[in-house]
Amino acid sequence: MKNLRDFTHPELVGLMAAMGEKPYRAEQVYNWLFHRRADRIDAMTDIAKSFRERLKKDFYIGGIKILGVKKSSDGTGKFLSLLEDGSKIESVLIPETDRLTLCVSTQAGCALGCRFCMTGASGFTRDLTLAELAGEVIAAISMLDEGERITNVVLMGMGEPLANYGNVLRFINVLTDGKGFGFSHNRITVSTAGLVPGIRRLGIDANVNLAVSLNATTDGTRSRIMPINRKYPMDDLIGALKSYPLHGKKNITIEYVLLKDVNDTLEDARRLTRLLKGIRCKINLIPFNPFPGAAYERSSDERAAAFGKVLLDGGYNVFTRQSKGADILAACGQLRGRYEEEASKEKPDDAF
Ligand code: SF4
Repeated sequence: MKNLRDFTHPELVGLMAAMGEKPYRAEQVYNWLFHRRADRIDAMTDIAKSFRERLKKDFYIGGIKILGVKKSSDGTGKFLSLLEDGSKIESVLIPETDRLTLCVSTQAGCALGCRFCMTGASGFTRDLTLAELAGEVIAAISMLDEGERITNVVLMGMGEPLANYGNVLRFINVLTDGKGFGFSHNRITVSTAGLVPGIRRLGIDANVNLAVSLNATTDGTRSRIMPINRKYPMDDLIGALKSYPLHGKKNITIEYVLLKDVNDTLEDARRLTRLLKGIRCKINLIPFNPFPGAAYERSSDERAAAFGKVLLDGGYNVFTRQSKGADILAACGQLRGRYEEEASKEKPDDAF
């Protein structure tokens, strides 16, 4: 049995043609899958019963099951979901004054092993399918209050999006398709730890925003905290950013998690201003969210402010991101760890 939600619009057109159906069937089914968010084939009530029966022989509509939701005091909502094979992933809804951003996971676990990340510490299970990626959006929509609307989607949760390139590109297709979820390309951000070939491909294949988790200014430090740097060192990464095609007013977002005495010196800040010269970018300074067993500590507010000032004086746009959801461990990969820790003591439904 195949999951119907694993098909993009063009793929459904191909599927319907292979089944000997008229092209309008693809429109109808696609509309039910992503726009009306049907959860079973029989819910597609304006499709002839005979055709539904035919579909049911080989297809089903699979989703993800929300195991628990937790709201932070700052309004951040995190939900942990169960996939069909028992893997668990997390997604986060982040409210801000003028936007409601959904942060989705792209893999169950992550193979890149960044040392400051709880997901990295728990290993890699597998890539998420299109149905699961879309399932995160559908699950989030189902939790919105009356009148609320997701305005932005960031691929910044568990996993490295560019390591699941094919499905991520198909997901972007469904996100931006007017008959799918209908988001503007400008409202979608792919965040990478620095997979240089993927960055180069993305620049050609999709006109979305790019964020790069940089977190260091020398190869020595970056390789220590982000082992992927040994494969794609900073020269290659910065080169890929310099040649990344930026349409309209788009910038590259440079994410920099401040780790006490590791990457937060004024010399680091000065090196960063030199490193990013010639790249149209804004810099997000992120306070580290310590988690149980973490080897690092958060930089002091004073150190973070001084670091930011050097960048500002260097002419960059700098934002110090509030560490949203800090009281419920919202940073990448941290919800699942907490869930599993608590679930070993409690029943799943009580764990949030
Ligand atoms: S920070 Fe992102 S890329 Fe690095 S280990 Fe965590 S999930 Fe993977």
